[in-house]
Amino acid sequence: MLTLVINAGSSSLKYQLFDMSKQTVLAKGICERIGIPGGKNKHTVNGETYEMDYPMNTHFDAIRIVTERLTDPETGVIRSMKEISAVGHRVLHGGQKFSGSVLINDAVLDAIAECIPLGPLHNPANLIGIRACTEVMGDVPQVAVFDTAFHQTMSPKAYLYAIPYEYYEKYDIRRYGFHGTSHRYVSKRAAEILGRPLSELKMITCHLGNGSSLAAIDGGKSVDTSMGLTPLEGVPMGTRSGSIDPAIVGVLCNRESKTVNEVVDALDKQSGVLGISGVSSDFRDLDAAKEAGNERAALALQIFAYNVRKYIGSYAAAMNGVDVIVLTGGIGENNTDLRPEILGGLEFMGVKIDAEKAASREKNVDISTPDSRVRVMVVETDEELVIAMDTVEIVSKQ
Ligand code: AMP
Repeated sequence: MLTLVINAGSSSLKYQLFDMSKQTVLAKGICERIGIPGGKNKHTVNGETYEMDYPMNTHFDAIRIVTERLTDPETGVIRSMKEISAVGHRVLHGGQKFSGSVLINDAVLDAIAECIPLGPLHNPANLIGIRACTEVMGDVPQVAVFDTAFHQTMSPKAYLYAIPYEYYEKYDIRRYGFHGTSHRYVSKRAAEILGRPLSELKMITCHLGNGSSLAAIDGGKSVDTSMGLTPLEGVPMGTRSGSIDPAIVGVLCNRESKTVNEVVDALDKQSGVLGISGVSSDFRDLDAAKEAGNERAALALQIFAYNVRKYIGSYAAAMNGVDVIVLTGGIGENNTDLRPEILGGLEFMGVKIDAEKAASREKNVDISTPDSRVRVMVVETDEELVIAMDTVEIVSKQ
């Protein structure tokens, strides 16, 4: 079953075509700078990447380019888009309406549109991506996989902010959480690798990438997570501040003569480890700068690791214990230098790391010592594959 996965952002559209009979990727790519000058498509097939300049006014143009690339005699892998059995879409915000992936129909489109105030940049792009697929591919079944859905099991004590209750009632302002497909997938994989039932495990999954979030997962259900109404809350990230004193926004508006939106934009795009270091949002660059003696790069890495460790401690407290800690995402899977900094201060909870295993880049492994009370796993995430798997499952039930 050929399944196309679409991840439409505000000015980009990523795609992967899976052959789900073998769970392999046939082709993948990205259309960038949609609606702005300098449109580009990068398309990878058989390990070869083709780059083409394409002006793209809208996501409809981007889907047409995806169609061209996938069916082109040189860069293509199919003869016609009709060979594709289903399309899975990553949708950012499902609000309180969606606690799982769903087959897209008119009612679902309306509900995604109703969540636009909660995801003002992404949900409109997600909707256009869905409509563009309908226009180009006709009535192919399409599935929406929400970043927020997995965390809908949180209880009010975890998802409500201590602000006037009427804001929750009037505007649905509450914690939603993101990276749900990743937290769901790696928690299941970790249990499988350990050979233990997920239903009996208290887990803390740490998705550490350019955007980072942690989730407390008790018996397979998300009970708390670090991102909130938006992905800005939680640990410091590549360019996002993570949690800060909200009064800082007012102070900065006054001192810098900026609007609230400008300050929030700076918290989103110029903060996190980039803001602290002044070097980069990429942890590889920070490692290199630290090696070269850059103290602020070293400090940014310390602040990141310290905050991740604090969240792990608080989630262990929230669940009255933890059996498994999972590291995933670009940083969680690859940055071995940060592991001692994150996990080293958790001996009091019974976390004991095998230094040799923790220094290796191996994935889907346990890096704790045999006598560690808490298992610590590095698990490879694959959000696109999860979207494709959900899509196949839902479409095959129709
Ligand atoms: P993600 O958003 O999950 O793609 O993660 C991006 C972050 O992961 C960046 O800060 C990278 O520096 C880091 N990362 C990705 N791959 C590697 C790698 N092979 N070694 C070290 N860090 C990596």
